Amino acid sequence: MNCTMAEVLQFVKENDVKFIRLAFCDIFGTQKNISIMPAELPRAFESGISFDASAIHGFMNVEESDLFLVPDPATLSILPWRPTQGRVVRMFCDIKRPDGTSFEGDTRNLLRLAVKKAENMGCQCKIGAECEFYLFELDETGEPTLVPHDRAGYFDMAPLDKGENVRREICLTLEEMGIQPESSHHEQGPGQNEIDFRYSDALSAADNLTTFKWVVKTTAARNGLHASFLPKPLAHKSGSGLHVNMSLTKNGINLFDQTGFEHNKEVESFMQGILDRIPEMTAFFNPIVNSYKRFGSFEAPKYITWSHQNRSQLVRIPAAKGEYSRMELRSPDPACNPFTAFALLIFAGLEGIEQHKTLCAPADFNLFAASPQQLEGIATIPQSLEQALDIAQSSGFIKSIFSENTLEKYLAAKHTECESYAAAQNKEQFELEHYFM
Ligand code: GLU
Ligand code: MG
Ligand code: MG
Repeated sequence: MNCTMAEVLQFVKENDVKFIRLAFCDIFGTQKNISIMPAELPRAFESGISFDASAIHGFMNVEESDLFLVPDPATLSILPWRPTQGRVVRMFCDIKRPDGTSFEGDTRNLLRLAVKKAENMGCQCKIGAECEFYLFELDETGEPTLVPHDRAGYFDMAPLDKGENVRREICLTLEEMGIQPESSHHEQGPGQNEIDFRYSDALSAADNLTTFKWVVKTTAARNGLHASFLPKPLAHKSGSGLHVNMSLTKNGINLFDQTGFEHNKEVESFMQGILDRIPEMTAFFNPIVNSYKRFGSFEAPKYITWSHQNRSQLVRIPAAKGEYSRMELRSPDPACNPFTAFALLIFAGLEGIEQHKTLCAPADFNLFAASPQQLEGIATIPQSLEQALDIAQSSGFIKSIFSENTLEKYLAAKHTECESYAAAQNKEQFELEHYFM
């Protein structure tokens, strides 16, 4: 709603709000929240509400566990699925240390730093995310199964498509929350869906994506279904991607807006900056073992390439005009922390501009149908989480972005995950237990 502090206090008073959810993401992108009563709100704005940060995976050790949540009034939104009497609202929070400084594991703040850096260089990065998900049936005890909700395919219609009512409810809920859905459709996989909402500044895009995932899960549950953002829930069906569309604006002009195939020089450097750092960023874009099963089939990329032409590419320049001109990065998946992912992308792109990088030649052919000769020498996206973690661990670029403590915690947790997966007797069961919810 883009409110000020005073407007939030007034809204709460005038709209029978009884519960205020203070929300944030852990370093892995899982949304967490605490509910406070309206009387506590002034204190929350003033000094923050404390919580046990040692109980949040990846945040703090027990010795120094107090952190504070300070709500960002600009992110106020009602939760439309909660009762209309004794309403519930939500705000995303800044995470502060007891001395008032920012907590370095607050990835929302990391994204803010990236946005600031772009501003200092005179540019703004707008982001639009396309997030795919599956709808699965529940069993008789209410537990999720791997039985897709329907057997429809790309753009199919009801009655084949059984997701239309859920998508409708999601779109209407998003609207009520101030997020503007643009389109929705049945995706390629059985029970697979996609809803795209309007692009925005990077911070709002990450906030909105976090909200979106929550709305999808909640709406599915209300309809007796399970929504899953697992990157590859069904072995031989389409995976779920999180395509990140980015534009670059300078003095109000979208630099991606071009005539023909001529690019602005800064856009080219921005793109090359991102392409160069893909291997190092992959552990954050594709953070779970399952992520790597998605690559290389069903329009999910495998090679580090770009082109105007087709969906086999890592970076695609869609045929769009004016404000919609952009690049589309196709490797990230919905398991990532969007705050971290968008921050990394901005830092990498800006580095490209700072270093005046020259864009490599496009790969104007279908990589899925290419001959071994055509593919010779083309680098691939890391092929396993372990490999991606090793590359991230030895990257000066990654080290320059995260605090030592946060990076260490992230990499350690992910290494442990790889080890547990390797040790698991039943791999599929491990994935479902750890990631399916
Ligand atoms: N589901 C595909 C992926 O894993 C993308 C399909 C599309 O282009 O929408 O990225
Ligand atoms: Mg799609
Ligand atoms: Mg797309």
